[in-house]
Amino acid sequence: MNRKSLIALAVLAMSAVAAQAAGKLNVETTTEDLAALAREVGGDKINVDAIAKGYQDPHFVEAKPSFLLKLQKADLLAVVGLQLEIGWLPPLQTQSRNAKIQVGGSGYLDMSHFCQVLEIPTGQVSRAMGDVHPLGNPHYWLDPQNGRRIAKAFADRFAQMDAADAAYFQQRYQDFDQRLSTAEKGWEAKMAPYKGRKVVTYHRSWPNFCDRFGLVVVDYVEPRPGIPPTPSHTLELINTMKAQNIKLVLIEPYFDRKTPDSVARAVGGDVAMLMPSVGGTKEVTTYFQLFDYDINLLVSLFQKYK
Ligand SMILES: [Zn+2]
Repeated sequence: MNRKSLIALAVLAMSAVAAQAAGKLNVETTTEDLAALAREVGGDKINVDAIAKGYQDPHFVEAKPSFLLKLQKADLLAVVGLQLEIGWLPPLQTQSRNAKIQVGGSGYLDMSHFCQVLEIPTGQVSRAMGDVHPLGNPHYWLDPQNGRRIAKAFADRFAQMDAADAAYFQQRYQDFDQRLSTAEKGWEAKMAPYKGRKVVTYHRSWPNFCDRFGLVVVDYVEPRPGIPPTPSHTLELINTMKAQNIKLVLIEPYFDRKTPDSVARAVGGDVAMLMPSVGGTKEVTTYFQLFDYDINLLVSLFQKYK
């Protein structure tokens, strides 16, 4: 970079700082999980709002005009990435005419770049095949270690955008990190007796969660991510579950229960409706409550099937 463009960049950065000094950073996130983590580190120095609600399937969100207004005034847009939002976010970004939040803009933050991503395909995968996870599994926030990485990325970006409050953001991150470490010890202790338990899940929402807490996902109700159940696959699933004595089908709140219910009935087991996101149910309003809810529910069901 030459001297002239460096100066231009510095001027740009200073004007951004001056603009921010006037008020709080306006942070828009695509999901409530990202918003919850932004709130942990941003405290009262930011305004934060999520586009998709936690009870909605984040792959398929109906774009509303109100989303545009939110994006127009955003200083920062944080996304999950890995094409999770590809079905609804890009046109909103374009129509917002907010240059900062376009891909690669100064106010665009793709959290997948900071996290451990599982199930990265090795061969050719295209969305034409119906697979909604073509770049790897986008449900990575369900491992607290990734939650920690997201929080750190927020703290660093907030500190960059609002240098006057940099110490505040880093302090809040340190505090969050400590509280999360304590909570993780509790969650791990609760799940330890069930290490190696096999489960079936509706969608591939849980690989990070299951890896972290020692569960084994054997199969899925969906034949492929994003493809609804088929009779032949459902029959195979029931046979697999019977053969391996698997009793639990984990589902997300936004899927039709018909197939999972019939599978659970056929194997004499249960459907467990776990929360994949903050806001999935009214008791889950923080990142901590998300794991509290899911782990308590799982433990109660694992105890039922010794
Ligand atoms: Zn998915």
